[in-house]
Amino acid sequence: MLSIFDIFKIGLGPSSSHTVGPMKAAADFAAALSEKGLLGQTCRVVAEVYGSLALTGSGHGTFDALLLGLEGSLPHDVELSSIQSRLAHIRTAEKLNLNGTHLITFQAADMAVHYDDVLPKHPNGLRFTAYAEQGRVLFKQVYYSVGGGFVVTDEQFGRLPENAEAVPYPFGSMDELTQMCHDHDLSIAQIVVRNESALSGEKPLAVRRRVAAVAQAMFDCVERGLSQQGVLPGGLHVNRRAPVLAEKMQVLREAGQLNTQLWPMVYAMAVNEENAAGGRVVTAPTNGAAGIVPSVLYYFRKFHPLSSPRAIEDFLLTAGAIGILYKTNASISGAEVGCQGEVGVACSMAAGGFSAVSGGTVAQIENAAEMAMEHHLGLTCDPVGGLVQIPCIERNGIAAEKAIKLAQLSLLEDGESKKVSLDMVIQTMLQTGLDMKSTYKETSLAGLAVTMKRKAVPVSVRVIEC
Ligand code: SF4
Repeated sequence: MLSIFDIFKIGLGPSSSHTVGPMKAAADFAAALSEKGLLGQTCRVVAEVYGSLALTGSGHGTFDALLLGLEGSLPHDVELSSIQSRLAHIRTAEKLNLNGTHLITFQAADMAVHYDDVLPKHPNGLRFTAYAEQGRVLFKQVYYSVGGGFVVTDEQFGRLPENAEAVPYPFGSMDELTQMCHDHDLSIAQIVVRNESALSGEKPLAVRRRVAAVAQAMFDCVERGLSQQGVLPGGLHVNRRAPVLAEKMQVLREAGQLNTQLWPMVYAMAVNEENAAGGRVVTAPTNGAAGIVPSVLYYFRKFHPLSSPRAIEDFLLTAGAIGILYKTNASISGAEVGCQGEVGVACSMAAGGFSAVSGGTVAQIENAAEMAMEHHLGLTCDPVGGLVQIPCIERNGIAAEKAIKLAQLSLLEDGESKKVSLDMVIQTMLQTGLDMKSTYKETSLAGLAVTMKRKAVPVSVRVIEC
């Protein structure tokens, strides 16, 4: 059984599958060398990058993340202010501190980027090989970054989590979750707290404290994004818009010319601009779609009469349960199923969470989450220049607005007479994603990415610095 803390992970931008996942894989490889007693013998490591990671890795910071991960850094604890100086030192000195303790030579040729090759199990593949003196192979490992910052080795791929029986209320579908809520007279949030308590061994109150910390990290990210000015990195010359828009909207609001409706759009853009700048963000369920849940939650806290610390926790507990259903039964990887698996899933999570804390029944929550995905089916992933900027930033804003409206719509009906269930739409999303052409799945080889490239956007996805 997955944990909601697998869905909501504090990390860094710009991409969960292309930045967070590769950093974790590289750190895992370096730690494995240490555990196997091979670190001292290692004099060279080669990192090979395949498929979508190769095609859009430059824009997503994949190669930087790999270097930092090999030095033992992890997304949640890497010191953001030291990243650029560390990378500059690795590249100029051609030295890398493997696992943070063992100095090796690392040259540009030690990062091999396979643009035309894909490893067999997933579009986001990585292979690390450690060598001793005279080129003797000490250890090699294949990893897949399967979306939302999840990383598995070749051997772990496709295996179900081993702790399914370890929770009191295991659920594999929305139907099962609904049945459990009815049978035990519990809300989705209460079920999730009890499961998390069993998974972590913590008391329910401690689980709620961790959820509150995730909410705070999201709020901090919204507020940082609203206060930062400037141009986003990567070469597209995209300006941060959220602070300027927020300022203009505040003026209009004070003059009585604007209500609160546009705020979720700006909050989401603030988070995604932070993400694009490589800032501290929470996956929800991914980095590319990291703006939607925080935006809707921030809006709820600021403007909703039912807002309270407990309601904020319940929002995330409910949204997290919906995220688990998508991750377990379909995919949250843009490289696997397109943007419907990122922005679509985040919209579905946010709509369900907002419906829950607005007084929605389980049926109404399900209906909100279902509608939010139904109208994202088929959404492709075509980030311009391989950067999580165009169309990603605005798209998060629009999905945040949609989530609130669909949650409100769900409350006007009983949710019992719906024709399409959440389980049905999750299966449809997966099948649509599998049918989608691979060029529309985080390769920047189609869609807006190609149209804008034709117009001579000064970005090349093939410019690699490592
Ligand atoms: S288009 Fe969607 S899935 Fe693709 S990078 Fe942007 S947010 Fe992620």
